[in-house]
Amino acid sequence: MNTNEHYPKDFQEFLIQFKNEEDCWNYIFEMRWPNGYICPKCNGNNKYWLTEHKLIHCAGCGYQASVTGGTIFHGTRKPLLLWFHIMWWVVAQKTGASANNLMDFMGFGSYETAWSWLQKLRRAMVRPERDKLSGDIEVDETYIGGVEIGKGKQGRGADTKTLVVVATECVGKQIGRVRFEIIPEASSEYLIQFIENNIDTGSKVITDGWRGYSPLTNNTNYKHEIKVISGSGSEAHELLPHVHLVDSLVKRWINGTHQGNISPKYLSYYLDEFAFRFNRKLSTYRGKLFYRLMQQAVDTSPKPFKELIKEA
Ligand SMILES: [Zn+2]
Repeated sequence: MNTNEHYPKDFQEFLIQFKNEEDCWNYIFEMRWPNGYICPKCNGNNKYWLTEHKLIHCAGCGYQASVTGGTIFHGTRKPLLLWFHIMWWVVAQKTGASANNLMDFMGFGSYETAWSWLQKLRRAMVRPERDKLSGDIEVDETYIGGVEIGKGKQGRGADTKTLVVVATECVGKQIGRVRFEIIPEASSEYLIQFIENNIDTGSKVITDGWRGYSPLTNNTNYKHEIKVISGSGSEAHELLPHVHLVDSLVKRWINGTHQGNISPKYLSYYLDEFAFRFNRKLSTYRGKLFYRLMQQAVDTSPKPFKELIKEA
């Protein structure tokens, strides 16, 4: 990215780089304004000074900005150093963090507080301008969460499973990046839109024979490969091995780290977290994930707890 992309490679370096509030404050400042302060009010690249309460006072228009204004840290009453530690802790664990173990680990008084911190961080785990998947991509739908429902038994509220469409890049036998999206039904309308939003044109899209994908055959933007069970004893999951492996990893993560305890209305944020971690699994340093999360955290509008609950 740029020469300012400096991050601690491991926890020892983290402890040296972030010792107090000032270290964290400076890190956020440099990340937000790598080429010098720009006043959010007058957009001027003016001189500024810091007030007693560490507000940034613009010499041009007199506006006083907080370094955390407009970020997920906006209005927090907790030290930035605590946020930094928790962000490190969240990215450092391969399996991620749950509200229960955050509550125990950080001594938060309530589950709700721990949950809302993690939820704020999950909001920062999506990049709106993220690159599309490319190459050979397997796409399939799956049901996640809730309890098993028999055929014909629908509309059991929070207990019902959520339909999710999954796309995975195939790099030989390895899996590249992944994408998830919750869809209301497995119709062409939603499946093709998902493909167009998430997969680069020119890519090969590999699906099973479900008719929802059939418009792809006439879509000149993609090559479409349909895999069907040959009758030679192969199982459905062998048709699209990459996407089915991802499907089982997500389910294992939800049932393990989160004990299957995810409300359908928040599932999309958990899927964002899974993708954030999975898509960076090849990063050499955990610190790189910390850096990406921080970059997006200072670029994400704040969400008060009430709004986190109300929405979705
Ligand atoms: Zn100004």
